[in-house]
Amino acid sequence: MTGKSRIGTFVGCIAITAVTTLAALETTRYGVHDMGRPRPLVVTPAEQVGQPPLDATVLFNGEDLSKWQKGNGADANWTIVDDDYMVVPPKAGDIRTREVFGSCQLHVEWRTPEGVPARVTNQDRSNSGVFLMGRYEVQVLDSYTDDNYQTNRTYADGQAASIYGQFPPTVNACRAPGQWQTYDIAFMRPLFDEQGNCVRKARITLFHNGVCVHNNLDIEGATAHKVKAKYSAHSEGPIVLQDHGNPVAYRNIWIRALPEEPYLIE
Ligand code: MG
Repeated sequence: MTGKSRIGTFVGCIAITAVTTLAALETTRYGVHDMGRPRPLVVTPAEQVGQPPLDATVLFNGEDLSKWQKGNGADANWTIVDDDYMVVPPKAGDIRTREVFGSCQLHVEWRTPEGVPARVTNQDRSNSGVFLMGRYEVQVLDSYTDDNYQTNRTYADGQAASIYGQFPPTVNACRAPGQWQTYDIAFMRPLFDEQGNCVRKARITLFHNGVCVHNNLDIEGATAHKVKAKYSAHSEGPIVLQDHGNPVAYRNIWIRALPEEPYLIE
């Protein structure tokens, strides 16, 4: 082989490698503005934001707790009020969905009680939580703050809308006790290899009362108390609502499964 042809072969190899690499990076086999590319499915949105779209699974709409159970599999025993919302009764324990989920869009409305004495603060001030896959907690707490109200000076990564023990929300969008608040969550499940190593962390985007407080954030691992979070391999898991000894209320809970590759439609 001549020097010239060796160079030609070398350049050719680079070109083939580059093309192969680019192909590997492609997320679709369709070109720009390809009329043959399938359109996304139509989903009819609700008239009012916060109401479930037609493809959602309604987990609770005030009628019954048939979609929920206790940790031991017994029927959920939280109290339904006015055919509208449910409240955590004393010593009832957490409840969880009977169905399990992975990546999802989740809507939850919650309310902390009025009239909690000012001396009750820190993590005792209307504590609850929403756990994704039964492991990753978005904290529910009374973190409302204004000039006429006793500020709850708990640790920042334990206030409302925090990824508990890991990340405070970027802003505090809390409403006052007694007012309904919303969480709108987009969650991508973690992925594990065959050895159980986490190869992609869970990711979360959270809107609290319509305000984005986490944007595509990597979660550091399963929620833990006073220890660093870490991952251990698991499959799909339930949505869990936490009983932390306070009469927090929930209503209008619905969920939509999210595809692993949202833009890759065959
Ligand atoms: Mg909690």
